Amino acid sequence: MAKVSIRGLFKMYPNAKDVAPAVHDFNLEIDDSEFIVFVGPSGCGKTTTLRMIAGLESISKGEIYIDDQIVNNLPPKNRNIAMVFQNYALYPNLSLFENMAFSLRLKKMEKFEINESVKNKAKKLQIEHLLDRLPGQISGGQRQRVALGRAIVRDPKIFLMDEPLSNLDAKMRVRMRMELIKLQRELGVTTIYVTHDQIEAMTMGDRIVVMNGGVIQQVDTPENIYNYPANRFVAGFIGSPPMNFIKGKLVRQDGRLLFAHDRFALEVPADTAGRIDLKYKDVYGGIRPENMTIKPYDGGDVAGPSFRGTIEGAELVGADRYVYVRFGGDEVIVRVDARERHQNGMEVLVSLEMDRFLCFDLHSEHRIS
Ligand code: ATP
Repeated sequence: MAKVSIRGLFKMYPNAKDVAPAVHDFNLEIDDSEFIVFVGPSGCGKTTTLRMIAGLESISKGEIYIDDQIVNNLPPKNRNIAMVFQNYALYPNLSLFENMAFSLRLKKMEKFEINESVKNKAKKLQIEHLLDRLPGQISGGQRQRVALGRAIVRDPKIFLMDEPLSNLDAKMRVRMRMELIKLQRELGVTTIYVTHDQIEAMTMGDRIVVMNGGVIQQVDTPENIYNYPANRFVAGFIGSPPMNFIKGKLVRQDGRLLFAHDRFALEVPADTAGRIDLKYKDVYGGIRPENMTIKPYDGGDVAGPSFRGTIEGAELVGADRYVYVRFGGDEVIVRVDARERHQNGMEVLVSLEMDRFLCFDLHSEHRIS
C-alpha cells in the first residue's frame, strides 16, 4: 500500500485572495495502511485538502508525496487513488455490474478478469445478487456499497472518502461505519476519510486530524484527542455534550494551586499543578459532563471539590440524562444515569473528578495542564 506525506501545504483560491487561505501550512505523515480521519466544522478545509491529495485541486504551495514520489503535478488517474463521495456518483443508466466494471474496462482489462474481479468484490460487499439492477432500483445503503465496490475493484493504493455515509439514515450509518472499518482492515488500504461528525471520527480513525479555519489543531489517536485535547477548540469540538468551560483564576496559596471562581475554589491535584507554568493566571477550567456528579444540597458546608448550583433543566437521552446546572452567570452540563431524577429549581452540589479537570490559557486557549 502507500504512505502519504504532506508538507507545508497551502491553498489560496484565486477568487478569494483577500481572505485567509482555505488550507494553511498543513503538515502530516500518513502511515501505510493507516485509517486517518480529517474532522472539523463546515468550511475548515477538509475537502480542499482531500481534493489536493486526489489531484482534483491545484496546490498553491507545499508538496504531497505518495510513497517517495512527489505527486503535485501527477494527473489524478496516475495516482492510484480511489475516491468515494457522499453522493455516490454512480452512473444512473448503467447496471451495478457496469458501474463497478467501468474503470476496469477503461484499463482494457480482459473480460473474464473483469467478471471475476467485480463478482469477487460484490460478494465481499454483499451486493452480488443485485448486480443486474440500476442504481435507482436499490437502497441508499446498497448504493453506498456499490460506490465502495467501484473503488475497490481498482485495487487502489489509497482510498479517499468524503463524507461517504452522510446520506444514510442513522441506523444504516452506524452499520456501514463498522463495515467500512472491517473492509479497510481486510484490504489494508491507506485511507483518508473526511467527516464533520466527531463520533464518526472517534469510532473510525486510527488517528484523527482536527481542523479549524484551514489550520490543523491536533493530530492524535481518538483516545488522546479526547483525554488530552491540545486546545479549547478541540476540547469543545470532540465529545457530546461538549466539555464544560468555566472561567477562573489560578491562585497559588501555601504550596497549593487553586482554581478560583467568584463562587468557589477548587484545589488542582499536585501532579496537574506541577505541569502548569507559573505565568498563567487567567484560565478556563475544563471538565467533561461525565466527570461530575450531582446530589441535593443539604444546607451544610461544601467540602471537597464541589460547588453549589441550581438545576435549570434536563434532557433524557436514552440511558443518560443531561442535567443543566446554573451557578451565577455560568452553567455546566452534567451527565447522570437516566434513572436519576432531579426537580428543576432544586439546589444541588456538583462534585468534580479533579484528576480529569483541565486548564486552558484564557488568551491562547491552549491546554496548559
Ligand atoms: P464542508 O464540511 O462544508 O464540506 P470543508 O471543511 O470540506 O467544509 P472546504 O470545502 O475545503 O471545507 O472549504 C474550505 C474553505 O474554502 C471554505 O471557506 C470555502 O468557502 C472555501 N472554498 C471551497 N471551495 C472553493 C472554491 N472553489 N472557490 C473559493 N473558495 C472555496
